[in-house]
Amino acid sequence: MDEDGGERSRILREQGFRWQGVAEAAYKPEGTHFSGARRQTLVGAPAGQEAPAFETRYFEVDPGGYTSLERHQHAHVVIILRGHAEVILDRRVAAARPLDCIYIAPWTWHQLHATDPDEPLGFLCSVDRDRDHPERPDAEALDRLCADPAVARRIRT
Ligand code: MN
Repeated sequence: MDEDGGERSRILREQGFRWQGVAEAAYKPEGTHFSGARRQTLVGAPAGQEAPAFETRYFEVDPGGYTSLERHQHAHVVIILRGHAEVILDRRVAAARPLDCIYIAPWTWHQLHATDPDEPLGFLCSVDRDRDHPERPDAEALDRLCADPAVARRIRT
């Protein structure tokens, strides 16, 4: 892997419950059996899904805590609900706050840090129901990631 997941991943910034780069659409393409409802598809196909092939989980991380540094074939969609985060996405570190939506592309090294000293980091995370197991970095992978000083400062193993 060439570790360009930081490029393929993206953070959708929220402002007033609208997400950057996401078009607001009709709730459904036709019909009058609804009213005053709109849709924003943050990540993924808007239609054609059968029974969910995903899970959406809520995680909470204590102030100063962090999730495991890992990568895997399956993607994540993370939506911050409380607290503040710094997120490692391969050789990139980004800050995120409540209602930011983070897409973590397949095979992207990732780790979430709870950076608010007074509040836990709480976030929703959606994943494939059937998914591969996370891979942990070896010394060589760590060396490559830590070539970026911001990543080197933040990373924990
Ligand atoms: Mn993961």
